[in-house]
Amino acid sequence: MRTTCPYCGVGCGVKAKADGRNVSVAGDAAHPANFGRLCSKGSALGSTVGLEGRLLHPTIGGRQASWSEATALVAKRFKETIARHGPDSVAFYVSGQLLTEDYYAANKLMKGFIGSANIDTNSRLCMASAVVAHKLAFGADLVPGCYEDLELADLVVFSGHNAAWTHPVLFRRMEQARARGQRHVVIDPRRTDTAEGADLHLPLAPQSDVRLWNGLLADLIRRGAVDRAYVAAHVNGFADVEAELGKVDQSLTAVAADCGVPAADLEQFFRWFAETPRTVSLFSMGANQSAQGVAKGSAIINAHLATGRIGKPGAAPFSITGQPNAMGGRETGGMATTLAGHMDFDPESRERVKRFWGAPTISEKPGLKAVEMFEAIREGRIKALWVMATNPAVSLPNAGKVREALAACPFVVVSDVMADTDTAPFAHVKLPALAWGEKDGTVTNSERRISRQRALFDAPGEARPDWRIVADVATAMGFVDAFSWRSQAQVFREWARLSAYENGGRVLNLGPLAAITPEAYDALEPVQWPVTSAGGTARLFTDGRYQTPDGRARMQPVAAEGPAEATDPAFPLSLNTGRVRDHWHTLTRTGLAPELCRHTPEPYIEVHPADAEKLGITEGRLTRVTTRQGEAVAVAKVSERQRPGSIFMPMHWGETFAPAGRANPLVAPKVDARSGQPEFKHTPARARPY
Ligand code: SF4
Repeated sequence: MRTTCPYCGVGCGVKAKADGRNVSVAGDAAHPANFGRLCSKGSALGSTVGLEGRLLHPTIGGRQASWSEATALVAKRFKETIARHGPDSVAFYVSGQLLTEDYYAANKLMKGFIGSANIDTNSRLCMASAVVAHKLAFGADLVPGCYEDLELADLVVFSGHNAAWTHPVLFRRMEQARARGQRHVVIDPRRTDTAEGADLHLPLAPQSDVRLWNGLLADLIRRGAVDRAYVAAHVNGFADVEAELGKVDQSLTAVAADCGVPAADLEQFFRWFAETPRTVSLFSMGANQSAQGVAKGSAIINAHLATGRIGKPGAAPFSITGQPNAMGGRETGGMATTLAGHMDFDPESRERVKRFWGAPTISEKPGLKAVEMFEAIREGRIKALWVMATNPAVSLPNAGKVREALAACPFVVVSDVMADTDTAPFAHVKLPALAWGEKDGTVTNSERRISRQRALFDAPGEARPDWRIVADVATAMGFVDAFSWRSQAQVFREWARLSAYENGGRVLNLGPLAAITPEAYDALEPVQWPVTSAGGTARLFTDGRYQTPDGRARMQPVAAEGPAEATDPAFPLSLNTGRVRDHWHTLTRTGLAPELCRHTPEPYIEVHPADAEKLGITEGRLTRVTTRQGEAVAVAKVSERQRPGSIFMPMHWGETFAPAGRANPLVAPKVDARSGQPEFKHTPARARPY
């Protein structure tokens, strides 16, 4: 059976053979994302499909209940809350683990039938800043390039992106390109595995990325490396950006000093960038998870627009998503800030979507973003919450306060695969959902490629697809006709029709897929949207036309502002959090695979030798990290990979696996004002031996 890996945004094709729940997997040689390769996580999928710990039946207050009883209770409590307190008193917190069909159903119920936009996704933590930067520059949330560009490029810049660990198969493709001379530059405070083998590593000071990218653009202008013809024909805002750059000293020495990198290294990066037309700049969590996340994305895109390096083979600014279907959520309106089909909340788009759905209402304005949503729950403004396929008690910043919010919420529904996540104890109703190997539907990877996830075996117990759980609750709320789908193929077809409905030339269009038959849906080959009668589309903006009203891209003036909260004598270190190579999110799946637990068996605190010596911390010693939000204890790793003055903790472990070593209760709930994405990469902290 051909299916898709459920972990990262590379979206690798998998060939799986199942004998009951004995599953063997191999890379799908015919899938254009991976051409047969799999990383350690994908290769271990067979170890994660057992039924141990699964939620197999609906429960109400801890006792097993029937689906009809549970569904009726959820519908009743949501309806009562809405009737008493209005539609904005309820919320859905969903996930990049959902399939596109699931996302579409949840978004339709919340925005079109409940009439609120309080549906947000854990993708808010992943790439919301890139979404806003795309919209500002291109007029819509559009990823210009494709994976082939990563092989065609002569220079790849990794900005806050440890691809060797987070997107390993894509990294292998680029490593092969290095054999023919491709250069790698890594911009990252840590000497990650990606940085280790790079041609150049710029270990910049935390949150100095905008300063660095602005410095690059100023240098490109000085060198005469701007593509004036491209800018004149296709780009607005260049003069405004140039004026913004002129407000601070952009000399090489000043930029190098502010970024904390050697001037000679910075000069080398600037020169390579200026001399290399085929350049791709990848940006990921290290750029996005910041109070300046949007500005970082804009500064990267500015450099590409100014040099015309976009819409061409081997040239693009390229946001890489963390999750398997973050893109599907962006497309179908899984974010509180987008309606559906990448449409905004302007009157015309609202009316169009409402008409298409035959909806009784439509949300008038964007809803609460993830961090705001849990603040609203804690303050009692949201009184009913449905958490789908995610574990916010572990994954959100200031996770201790998130637990308080969940505990205070009058009605919490959790639909999940696992029975005992950190979030599950707060649920009044638990609804069993399907896992990988049972689910059937579509996902979209980081290069806009839609692929099928296919079921390998039957649903266990009474577990159901997420789209169907949503449809059942919607039906019980009285919205019968609009949620009467009988299959995931029907949901997909409706979604594809919406993408094409009164499209008006918007780029997101699934075109011919709007008439897809169930048989064609089952057999759907991986395809990149926009889809035309000629097939998928590898690159966007090849003709220099953008999705803005006048068809021109918009460069954005951005000023370097540094972190939201500076370090100080009480909290002198910068705490950075992130992934490890072989684990995924909150361990509910990869924690089941012994081969994946071996690489990093427990949480740790990584600290530079100079800081370790000053603080009396030694390798392997239990160490306490304290921030204004909380404390954690884990073993120390003393490593020169860490930048002096900063420490690192992996974010995967929750109460279930390592109560003392949880990183996210330490993280400050500071967010980018425009994207709402939290600053996971910098929280003032102190450390000492435990
Ligand atoms: Fe799965 Fe990502 Fe690994 Fe591919 S690179 S096998 S999608 S985790």
